Amino acid sequence: MIYIGIGANLGNREKTLQDAAGILDAKPEIAVVAASAVYETAPIGVIDQPYFLNAVLQVHTSLSARSLLNCLLAIERGFGRVRQTRWGPRTLDLDILFYGDTVINQPGLQVPHPHLHERAFVLIPLCDLNPDLKHPVLDQSIQFLTDSLGMDLPVRKIEGLNLITRTRRQQII
Ligand code: ADP
Ligand code: MG
Repeated sequence: MIYIGIGANLGNREKTLQDAAGILDAKPEIAVVAASAVYETAPIGVIDQPYFLNAVLQVHTSLSARSLLNCLLAIERGFGRVRQTRWGPRTLDLDILFYGDTVINQPGLQVPHPHLHERAFVLIPLCDLNPDLKHPVLDQSIQFLTDSLGMDLPVRKIEGLNLITRTRRQQII
């Protein structure tokens, strides 16, 4: 199973997330099959910036991890993202979290995403979709990793926002 993290903290964040999910699903090689709830999260690292909206999408795709990354980076660029500061504000951030059990350590592509196990804004939406999913490197479940973060998580669920806006495709690639 392939999971993509999606986040935005500039502009119309809700619309950006919905539009980006729609653009992904419209690609012939990609089907978005499930989406977590959307969460508002305090920024980490550079804290003097707007709050993020974050979610996780489960996709089916015939693309390799590298081709999927290139597709995600192109979509980010389409939303006007300009890379300035690391961890700084961005109109759209798309990350490959898991590509099945595949482990990749290449320049510009690490899978599972190297920070996912320490980020509440990734783990909590992943729990919506698959709490029993095992991290192939750490060999621990998403639920366990989430519980390990402690109680006071800076994440708030946004009610009534669904990233799968159109009829979910039945076709499984
Ligand atoms: P982050 O998403 O960690 O806040 P950035 O989005 O600014 O950081 O960094 C993106 C860069 O990280 C991309 O240029 C990409 O090559 C690299 N990268 C490495 N592994 C991944 C991954 N699994 N998903 C997305 N980008 C990745
Ligand atoms: Mg990124």
